[in-house]
Amino acid sequence: MKRSNGSKRAHQRACRACDEPVLSLSKHLVESVMHTEEAILSVVLGLIVGSFLNVCIHRLPKGESLVRPASRCPVCSVPIRWYDNIPVLSFVLLGGRCRGCGGRISWLYPAVEALTGMLFLLTMLRFGLGVRTIFLLAFLCGLVVVTFIDLDHQIIPHAVTLPGIPLGLIASLITRDPSPRDAAAGALVGAGLVYLVAVYAEVAFQRESMGGGDVNLLAMIGAFLGWRQVLLSFFLAVSAGACLSLLLIATGVLSRKDRIPFGPFLALGAVVALFGGDGLIDWYWRLLR
Ligand SMILES: [Zn+2]
Repeated sequence: MKRSNGSKRAHQRACRACDEPVLSLSKHLVESVMHTEEAILSVVLGLIVGSFLNVCIHRLPKGESLVRPASRCPVCSVPIRWYDNIPVLSFVLLGGRCRGCGGRISWLYPAVEALTGMLFLLTMLRFGLGVRTIFLLAFLCGLVVVTFIDLDHQIIPHAVTLPGIPLGLIASLITRDPSPRDAAAGALVGAGLVYLVAVYAEVAFQRESMGGGDVNLLAMIGAFLGWRQVLLSFFLAVSAGACLSLLLIATGVLSRKDRIPFGPFLALGAVVALFGGDGLIDWYWRLLR
């Protein structure tokens, strides 16, 4: 009993402004002016970074430069002026159309920006401003890029995951959260797990279920989160993937032969593990005891 309380306290994070345990994000957001300022800044930063992630999502699969040329309308290729390139706001003001040609702009652009803004806000509120937060924001940006490229092209770009693995290991050397040993074990467990499942599925079902991209992605997740949370990420991803696949096949949206990209589920599992993993793992141990 004592041990359970101790581990609960260890996982409870205190607010940096008022030293209260961070239990309710919304309550803290409203109560503290300092938090409101931090929150607004992190959302704005997230929206701006999200705008750059859109560039990565659309150019990485084509092997194009991420810097040049400047953003262009996907329909008429006319460069987008700065005041038409304000994250989310420009899309809303222009009614989702290009100012020049009136062509439709995909809602995915503002969606990626809003999602990134939300992830930045959650990370700042949950982990406070610190070195680990900077590494975690880079990790989450990688997950956003991987998710939308995999949804669109059914590939997980090595350009994101391969640098992500050493970055996660370096982060663990600097922040010690998770410990370097835990991070290295996480990368190995992540890669090994997907590899074993992929080999098993190929032998058992005579079809490719996961690829090398998934191996690298789960290795990256393991390097950033450690071995416990990479196991949890994988479990959550498989559960969510199986539920959604069954639902889509049952409703006739997909056939049994369609391949559903697994990257977005791994990314979702990692995000849930990052923000709620400690609580979920504690809860699971208490169930077993
Ligand atoms: Zn246009």
